[in-house]
Amino acid sequence: MLGGMIDHRWTWRSPALARAIGALEAELELAWARLLAELDVAPGSSEETALGWLVADSPDEHDWRVVDAALDRLTCPFCAATLTRGPATCHRCALYHGMRFAARETDRPNVPPGNEHAIRVSFAVARNRARYTPRARVGYELLLPGLVAGELPTTAQAQAAKALINKLTPEECDQIATLAEVEALARTR
Ligand SMILES: [Zn+2]
Repeated sequence: MLGGMIDHRWTWRSPALARAIGALEAELELAWARLLAELDVAPGSSEETALGWLVADSPDEHDWRVVDAALDRLTCPFCAATLTRGPATCHRCALYHGMRFAARETDRPNVPPGNEHAIRVSFAVARNRARYTPRARVGYELLLPGLVAGELPTTAQAQAAKALINKLTPEECDQIATLAEVEALARTR
């Protein structure tokens, strides 16, 4: 089912993050397969590509999983990378990366309101690392496994974690795998 997609699990900072990303990517694939079935569009057809652009251009009409699945299937006409994954200098990739955040986010049952928004942002940051600073990345990436499990940190918790992360160098931010490691390093400063 994930054939053809880039397998970048080995680069994730922790097994927990790899599992969370893998689970969400499987949900993307499922959401896309459902849309194709609903519209009677064959996978791999030119109609699928046309549908992908339609979805990418109207993100507010679809769940974010469908939008991200569409982006994964499109090629940027300017830089030839997978759409949104091109270099920071590609304005078309930057445009579609920004547009994706207009997609619909519906909280799952029995999670704090805003959990789904936090998941979709953390997932987008983790999969578009080059667009974000090491400090921004580590904050979102450490959060993602807990978010998928249905948690949502309070504002105070998020601010406390951010204060600790700000004591780390950018290199350390990319190397640490858990919040416990952040706390241990921050204590030495
Ligand atoms: Zn591009």
